[in-house]
Amino acid sequence: MQPLTLPPRLLMGPGPINCYPRVLQAMATQLVGQYDPAMTDYMNETMALYRRVFNTQNQQTFLIDGTSRAGIEAALVSVLEPGDKVLVPIFGRFGYLLAEIAERADADVHTIEVPWGEVFAPEQIEEAIKRIRPKVLAIVQGDTSTTMLQPLDALGAICREYDVLFYTDATASIGGNPFETDKWQVDAVTVGLQKCLGGPSGSAPISMSDRFVQAVRRRHHVEAGIRDSHHTGAKGARIRSNYFDLAMIMDYWGDERLNHHTEAATMLFGSRECAVALLSEGQDDVLARHQTAGLAMLRGIQALGLTPFGDLKHKMSNVVGVYIPDGVDGEQVRHDLLHLFNIEIGTSFGPLKGKIWRIGTMGYNARQDAVLHTLQSLETVLRRQGFSMPAGAGVDAAMAVYAGQAQG
Ligand SMILES: *Cc1c(COP(=O)(O)O)cnc(C)c1O
Repeated sequence: MQPLTLPPRLLMGPGPINCYPRVLQAMATQLVGQYDPAMTDYMNETMALYRRVFNTQNQQTFLIDGTSRAGIEAALVSVLEPGDKVLVPIFGRFGYLLAEIAERADADVHTIEVPWGEVFAPEQIEEAIKRIRPKVLAIVQGDTSTTMLQPLDALGAICREYDVLFYTDATASIGGNPFETDKWQVDAVTVGLQKCLGGPSGSAPISMSDRFVQAVRRRHHVEAGIRDSHHTGAKGARIRSNYFDLAMIMDYWGDERLNHHTEAATMLFGSRECAVALLSEGQDDVLARHQTAGLAMLRGIQALGLTPFGDLKHKMSNVVGVYIPDGVDGEQVRHDLLHLFNIEIGTSFGPLKGKIWRIGTMGYNARQDAVLHTLQSLETVLRRQGFSMPAGAGVDAAMAVYAGQAQG
């Protein structure tokens, strides 16, 4: 049997991306017992670090073990009781995921949609809230399927006015685009590591406001005789998932440390390191690095004579959709980039399948050299397919963005 060997890919798709080396190092750390003070101290520290990542004072800020959708599922199944109304504005693939998860919780799901490549105006959402009067608004911040970034800053106030709980999935956007839990009055947010936070998938940081916590706590969560005295007087339907029962997970991360799952310690070490990487470089500097890399990629793509997808005013900094030019075989280009250059770029889904590639510049890969390698390789592969463009124009345009940045 051979040792584990993988090709040295440069992951320039919409995620996952290459991890920060320090995150991989942290994940090679030996374990301690799950109630060892050394472990519980790191759990507490990780909660504090993610409060800073989310820009919140929320006490209830911790990790759900599982990929990003574990966080989404925990938030939605813990807050939505059967028959509860939820409004899901959909502008891409992950909006459908939120709606599906809410449906499986037997919620009364209402959706509104805009065409892929656009986002909602706050008035559209307010109008739907007035009409539907949902308990929860569930919306994605950045949807990698369309590359769009939904503005959230006006939605919190609207939700407070109509007494709606405001949940968002910021998996694709956190770390590369601004996110302000408290300032925007977000009641619950969940994310993952494998986009701009520069880690592997497998941990889903979450933060919840007191309003959201109350809505979860009022429900039963009696576990097989162990906690029947706990939270007596709870009203509402019992949370249908044990693994994703946020009331139980809060008690596990809280001072009581009531046993729930065995914390995925290796993922905790990785998640902690992602937060440390972000905060020690500085949130503003990391955002600026993503903005510069994203702009350099965009300008490079345009200089190659390619057309970006969607409303560029609302594009996430960290991913760009690129129309596959007429006469070019999009899958062949991806194949050649992967096998000749060890570079991965993304395909797309749904209405965009076969129409655009998606190229990411996230986390560890939001770097000048990664942008330049990708543009140069893409140019070469396209030329071999008979698509002509000015030689070197993509790289030159990207370097001009970095040069402008350096001059301030
Ligand atoms: C990438 C992405 C996810 C990923 O979910 P996983 O369960 O980690 O695969 C979730 N939500 C959004 C908006 C994403 O872009």
